[in-house]
Amino acid sequence: PSLHKQRHQFVVDFIQRNKPKKVVDLGCGECSLLSRLKFRREIELLVGVDIDERKLRRKTLGLAPLSTDFLQPTFEQLRVELYHGSVLEKDARVRGFDLVTSIEVIEHLHLADVKCFSAVVFGYMAPKAVIISTPNSEFNPLLPGLSGFRHSDHKFEWTRAEFTSWALEACCHYGYEVEFTGVGRAPQGQQVGFCSQIAVFHRVRRENICNVPPGYDPEDEFSYTQLYSV
Ligand code: SAM
Repeated sequence: PSLHKQRHQFVVDFIQRNKPKKVVDLGCGECSLLSRLKFRREIELLVGVDIDERKLRRKTLGLAPLSTDFLQPTFEQLRVELYHGSVLEKDARVRGFDLVTSIEVIEHLHLADVKCFSAVVFGYMAPKAVIISTPNSEFNPLLPGLSGFRHSDHKFEWTRAEFTSWALEACCHYGYEVEFTGVGRAPQGQQVGFCSQIAVFHRVRRENICNVPPGYDPEDEFSYTQLYSV
């Protein structure tokens, strides 16, 4: 399978093991991961956020229920929501989820904004788990014909040490622990790591979460625009 599919399969496998009920995919693009996750029966709320409204609108049909979903309704109900917005902005509708995924997105942010991304994801959204993937620049010499970054919109590509250092700082700051893995193996004997590096975070402290009773939270912010709900 393509690297793209392997990254999404990694998330599917994680969901199968951890059974999150509320999942948000940040930088979901054309919703290909969401379209796969809608078949995971353990999920009750599936949210996608992207800054590119055209991309978001392109494939929403894949998120709609199938006729068979009406013929064989499951006990649990799934809601799917799409929002137009930036991962650098806070929105109370995606706080306190079980899982946040952001697959090949951080390298599209300016390096100066990555701290803000950490603050929004770990500090504000404060989910139980987070999966982040990004290219591993140490793998680049193995990619034929590549000069420079893997994509013209990438603002940076990190080595394993750079990714680790960012992830550990976020853990320290926001009370998470992290494991590193990846997809896309190098040929035997090449010690460069995976083609796509993946960090899986689990929350270990709860003090970042604001314990305000439901219905009123002075910190509530709504920066996203809802495009779709089904
Ligand atoms: N996650 C998807 C996947 O695995 O197929 C798409 C990855 S695509 C390489 C990067 C996506 O990040 C694009 O859809 C882009 O619009 C989105 N993106 C970039 N900057 C963003 C931001 N500040 N807020 C939300 N989405 C952003």
